[in-house]
Amino acid sequence: MNSLIEVKGITKTYQMGQVAVHALKGIDMVIEDGEMVAIMGSSGSGKSTLMNILGCLDQATSGNYILEGVDINALSKNEYADIRNQKIGFVFQVYNLLPRTSALENVELPLFYDRTGRIGAPKKAAVEALERVGLGARMDHEPSQLSGGEQQRVAIARALVNQPAIILADEPTGNLDTRTSIDVMALFQELNDQGITVILVTHEPDIARYAKRTVEIRDGIVRRDVLIENRRNAAEDFQNYRQNSDDGGRNHDTGL
Ligand code: ADP
Ligand code: MG
Repeated sequence: MNSLIEVKGITKTYQMGQVAVHALKGIDMVIEDGEMVAIMGSSGSGKSTLMNILGCLDQATSGNYILEGVDINALSKNEYADIRNQKIGFVFQVYNLLPRTSALENVELPLFYDRTGRIGAPKKAAVEALERVGLGARMDHEPSQLSGGEQQRVAIARALVNQPAIILADEPTGNLDTRTSIDVMALFQELNDQGITVILVTHEPDIARYAKRTVEIRDGIVRRDVLIENRRNAAEDFQNYRQNSDDGGRNHDTGL
């Protein structure tokens, strides 16, 4: 039985004119189906570079990436794109939603890039994805009519619409206040409980504690890889946060 993700000796070098930037210097990592992993590390340590490789948005310079037993480096361009469309959902710090376009249409969009037509009824799939993230009543809203947290939920629905095995989220709470961040983490925990493997980047230890495992990257190398003790439950924290704040939870200072 293969692991979901096996990464061996991955390097990535960006060539900037005369200068070579060695963003990843040999990453080894195994991630099993059903894990929830927080990738941590300071700015410039290579987190996004690694996420882009895991998400089949960019290929490594050297090393091996095996996803569900498939050697990703050996794929043709089309096969590579198909893997990305079928297996991976991406969530970013900026929501990347199309303006003046309804939540429903934003979520439907990835299905038009799926050449296989695997998901037969795009609109129905998009409705279901939005219901899954709790936005069933906001489907006709455009991004400007939604809060930051709601926009990130639309982005998560868009990531879910292809029924991916893996969600990759690069600093998904980076633009959100504490309360909304906890709420979004509750959604990731819920999706993980439903069987989706979640890999997220964060530099906030409080956010990483909602994962099951932390992998710390420094200078393009894995420096630490530990299981999280006393993992926190974001749904419970969110409830407590609401109850403890007089202003309905908009107070950023509760020490959570
Ligand atoms: P992090 O997400 O941890 O902040 P990144 O993976 O974005 O780090 O970047 C790692 C290193 O690679 C940094 O030194 C960054 O400047 C460099 N880098 C990232 N993307 C590119 C690119 N497209 N071209 C050149 N250098 C890049
Ligand atoms: Mg980054």
